[in-house]
Amino acid sequence: MQLIPSPPKEVAKGFPPLRAVSNELLRANIVFSDTLDSLEKAGGHTKSCVNCGSSALAFGVPVLLKEEHFSMSLPLALCRKCSEKPPVSPFVEFSNFRSAWTTMALCVAGWIILLILSVVFPALATLFAFTSLGIFILVALTILKFFDTVPIEPKLRDSQTVDLINKSPHFGKMLNAFPNAKLLWTEVSPNSEPLKYAWTKEFERECFQQSFTPYERGFVMADLHSLDLSDGSIPLCTEVFRYLSDTFRDNFQSAQDNPIAAQVLITFLPGRKREVQLKVSPSGQRAIREKIRDKIESMPDFPVNLPVVVLYRNCNFPGIELANELPIPDPTLRTRAFARGFR
Ligand SMILES: [Zn+2]
Repeated sequence: MQLIPSPPKEVAKGFPPLRAVSNELLRANIVFSDTLDSLEKAGGHTKSCVNCGSSALAFGVPVLLKEEHFSMSLPLALCRKCSEKPPVSPFVEFSNFRSAWTTMALCVAGWIILLILSVVFPALATLFAFTSLGIFILVALTILKFFDTVPIEPKLRDSQTVDLINKSPHFGKMLNAFPNAKLLWTEVSPNSEPLKYAWTKEFERECFQQSFTPYERGFVMADLHSLDLSDGSIPLCTEVFRYLSDTFRDNFQSAQDNPIAAQVLITFLPGRKREVQLKVSPSGQRAIREKIRDKIESMPDFPVNLPVVVLYRNCNFPGIELANELPIPDPTLRTRAFARGFR
């Protein structure tokens, strides 16, 4: 975790003076900027299908990269043909092609032999009629099976997805930097095809740029103390964010894959006092809220001469929307009184 000062121009516009960023997020930011640079240098977009090299691009298909601290989309440029093949399509179509043809050929051969036998030996006509019916049913079933589609093995699809992203001249960087990240095709529902967008020159940049979503955000909203290295208040404040980050992440685990988001605004006041405004969403997660509250209450002291207000927010992947909806609470009356006295 590191505290990064905001540029004075932005602070003058009301932007928080300091931002808390985890090391993983700093690393992701660097790779993100590198990727945008490489896209820029290449003329703003990929020129050919990442799979076959065809210049007839038809679709932009995003793959979702889900990491412990952030998520983002890696948009792949594909021609029409490659966008219909696995791993972009979750199914292997007509996989029974060979066995279906073999079964049909054997059935027809058997039927012809029986036909000849029933002509030579008319006594076999009844047997021939029944056998023909059996062969007819078998051929019908084979034809149905012929058009069957078989889902591709999830592990094979994963490794094919990794291979496909690595073929992309730009987006493999993120995967190499975060090899343990999960890759997901962005289906609307579990059984549907991945989302495919008509190819445009802007697609890759827009999709990539807009999709980068860090789960945690930390800000020093107000710093009347003037945080400094010399009095140790910068490292202590950094420790506060680290403590909050660990607390939120540990307690989110019990939500499993259910959406969860939480935010806390803490006002550190002189005299080792602090005011905590905690919000956990959805409101039904009472147990998690109580655990986070207890942990924040037992947080070590952060002594300040004048108020310091920190805001920390975190969520899991399904809780991104909930986190965006969390309102930033107003400063408490005591902070406002301090701020007025300070002016
Ligand atoms: Zn292609």
